[in-house]
Amino acid sequence: MTQTAKIAPAAGLRPQPVEAFNRIGEENAFAVLARATALAAEGRDIVNLGIGQPDFPTPPHIVEAAIKALRDGHHGYTPSTGIAPLREAVAADVHRRFGEEIDPGRVVIVPGGKVTMFSAILMLGEPGAEILYPDPGFPIYRSMIEFTGAKPVPVPIREENGFGFSAEETLALITPRTRLLILNSPANPTGGVTPKAEIDALVAGLARHPHVVILSDEIYDQFLFDGEAHTTLLAYPEIRDRLILLNGWSKTYAMTGWRLGWSLWPVGLFEPMRKLAVNAWSCVNAPAQFGALAALTGPQDCVGEMVAEFDRRRKLVVDGLNALPGISCATPKGAFYAFPNIAGTGWSSAKKLASALLDEAGVATIGGPDFGVHGEGYIHLSYANSAQNISRALDRMAEFLAQARAA
Ligand code: PLP
Repeated sequence: MTQTAKIAPAAGLRPQPVEAFNRIGEENAFAVLARATALAAEGRDIVNLGIGQPDFPTPPHIVEAAIKALRDGHHGYTPSTGIAPLREAVAADVHRRFGEEIDPGRVVIVPGGKVTMFSAILMLGEPGAEILYPDPGFPIYRSMIEFTGAKPVPVPIREENGFGFSAEETLALITPRTRLLILNSPANPTGGVTPKAEIDALVAGLARHPHVVILSDEIYDQFLFDGEAHTTLLAYPEIRDRLILLNGWSKTYAMTGWRLGWSLWPVGLFEPMRKLAVNAWSCVNAPAQFGALAALTGPQDCVGEMVAEFDRRRKLVVDGLNALPGISCATPKGAFYAFPNIAGTGWSSAKKLASALLDEAGVATIGGPDFGVHGEGYIHLSYANSAQNISRALDRMAEFLAQARAA
């Protein structure tokens, strides 16, 4: 027998990943996007209110900065944690917006905000540990918790609390095994914003649980309406030594496809994060980092203009949804999502309603349960689409709900 024959797999056997991969989940927004794109390719007219990415182009000065970086010869690896001027610009931006000092030496530039949650959960999750996460919430939290073998502990996010989290309910779920608490405000998928008083109460209660690390996902921190001001967890010095902050450029500067984010790590977790970066992605691509630098140091009116446009659409979406039979929609205070309650429509499965809306009415939305069990009874709409398309979607939904038999 030859050496090659010895190592060739037996006929019919397929390579299999380790058991943890049976537990990894995904983000249904991408599946809905793929289905909506496939239907559109068949010639169907689809309005996509599923995926959470601004429909605006990246502002031109940011694009130009990245092109210039390539022309200037920035073709190589950068430090794994990001180029120094960008890490300093992140610290300066945090200071400008919140008056808080952060150490640029503990900022890590990552290929997308998602990578921060991936890394934090990987670093702190293991069998025996418990991780608290918002439900409904961004689906990757739970997926990654399951992947690590830690126990996912959902913190219910309730409509009666304006889709903010309750400090009391969150604190009551903490046990000696709780390793990480994930917070997200303004929130996906609801658009909910947790009031400052609730965050104050949570932080005060966390003093009794010094073993719990906090991951605050603040990626929508500039998407606030009705004069709301963002409460960053950075404003609480008493938890700074156990706070991981997730933020980035994807939403604020319409840069989802650039794959860029930043995170701040406490002492003790920074080194593992740096090493993870070296092992997994080496560095974020160099020209994108120069684009990100231009975003932070350049004019900010592009952000204000985009948020103002989202605010106009928010009113259109909320008024339009509330006019639909059986639907009631709380006014979201942040992000660019609406999370209408479908209880009155007769549809007992929000996922079935979402898929019927796509197949029969040509409107892509996402069923609430794709964001966790507490999402049943709701559907998720992203209003990152033109006012004209939003109006078309609402008309189609009205027609569909008036005619279709609920399932
Ligand atoms: N966190 C939340 C709450 C999000 O909704 C998203 C994207 O939708 C992310 C993080 C990830 O952002 P990025 O595209 O930068 O990975």
